[in-house]
This record gives sequence, structure tokens and C-alpha cells, in this order.
Amino acid sequence: MSGGLRLIVHPLAQHIVTHLRDKTTHPATYRTLTYQLSLLLAVEATRDLATEEKPIETPLEPTSGRTLAHTPLVVVPILRAGTGMVQPFVDMFPDVSVGYIGLERDHETAKARSYYCKLPPLENRRVFVVDPMVATGGSAVQALQIVKERGASDPKLVCIVVAPQGLEEVTRAHPDVPIFAAALDRTLNSKKYILPGVGDFGDRLYGT
Ligand code: URA
Repeated sequence: MSGGLRLIVHPLAQHIVTHLRDKTTHPATYRTLTYQLSLLLAVEATRDLATEEKPIETPLEPTSGRTLAHTPLVVVPILRAGTGMVQPFVDMFPDVSVGYIGLERDHETAKARSYYCKLPPLENRRVFVVDPMVATGGSAVQALQIVKERGASDPKLVCIVVAPQGLEEVTRAHPDVPIFAAALDRTLNSKKYILPGVGDFGDRLYGT
């Protein structure tokens, strides 16, 4: 799968994004909507998983179908908001492993710095880095760098909203990485929030 933006186009995705943007949406609903949209994104991001033939018998006759080949998956949320996108991967792919990357802005270098990193083996696995908001792209670039250094050969980035600035930064640093998103927004404000955006995704998800 080649790099660049893969915007999911589906009426349900548009419907959910609109309710995520709406400032009157409460955290309990926010979590459900995030789950539902992340499920749609997970389906798109796993479209190229390998399948293998499986002979079976229906109650009426023998036939053959296809099942997922054994491809180990790893989902890696960027703390904190990324955790809201993990559950659909776990529900759809019960054998998935979950790694965590915590990043914070280093005020000296203005770059994302890792303060927590717990990852399973990543070689020969399908790795999905999840983070709902790609604003400047700094965290996503850093997280993708970390998973590549730890052995991920073709990681994917799954997010909900991406800003043009973040998209440019991620594709410049990782031209090989496909970026699955539900919305490409207009720009960033002076505090690096996405416009029109949703506000602070973590705050809205966890009611902080
Ligand atoms: N993170 C958020 O939660 N919201 C933004 O708009 C940008 C980064």
C-alpha cells in the first residue's frame, strides 16, 4: 500500500464527524461516536489484509471460502487521545497486540519527545499508529519514527481529523506511510488547534 492521504468517504463517517465537532456532544456520546468512526477507519485500514482459502461444509454441501491469513496485528495509540481508537481493533481482531507511545512537546526543541514507550515486537507485523488529531504532525512523525526503528516495515497512520500542515509534515517525513482519516480540515489556529476541528479531543473524550 502506498503512502499519502486516504480520506474515507461514507455518509456514516460524515454524520459521526459532524457530531464529534458539535460542542454540545457529551463525553459518553463522544466515546461511542469515536468507537464507531474508528471501526469504519479500522475496516478501511485493513482492506489489504491477506486471506487464504478454506474448504468448509455448509449444511447443504461442501464449498470453499476465504478467511484471514495469520497476519499478526499491532495497534499503537499515541497517549492520551489515541486510546479512544483502540477498542474497535481489539473487537475486530481479538489477537491484536497493543503498544503505547506517550509523547509530549519538548519546549527546548519544540519537538515531540517520548516520555513513555511500551511496544510488543513489531517485525513482520501489521502496525497501526492511532491518534485522532494530526495537527502539526509532530507527534505522528515521531511515533512513526519510533515504530520503524523498532522493526515496523509498513506502518499505517489512522486518525480522525488531519490538518493540511500535519498532512504535509507526515508525508514529507514518511512518504511511504498511508494516512487514513475521516476529515481533512482547513488550518491550525495560533495555539495549533485544528480549525474547524473538534477542540481538544482528549478532553472531549474523557470529560477533562
Ligand atoms: N489535538 C487536539 O485534541 N485537538 C486539536 O485541534 C489539535 C490537537
